[in-house]
Amino acid sequence: MSEIKLKPCPFCGGVAQLNYERITGENKGFWAQVICRKCHGRSGGTWAGSYSAAERKEVNTWNRRAGEQNE
Ligand SMILES: [Zn+2]
Repeated sequence: MSEIKLKPCPFCGGVAQLNYERITGENKGFWAQVICRKCHGRSGGTWAGSYSAAERKEVNTWNRRAGEQNE
């Protein structure tokens, strides 16, 4: 298992965490979304074929946005 590094929230600098969802009985796949614990700012969310694929895309999007805000 690779460790996931989430940058601080681009909105408030708070700690962000990954959330996962799967709709039982539907074949939509796996959902991952990054949500800030402090201000509840969130990424767009991704449906993918696996949690790891959805997660990777969400982390990349989140970290890129956080990086843009910081520079
Ligand atoms: Zn925040």
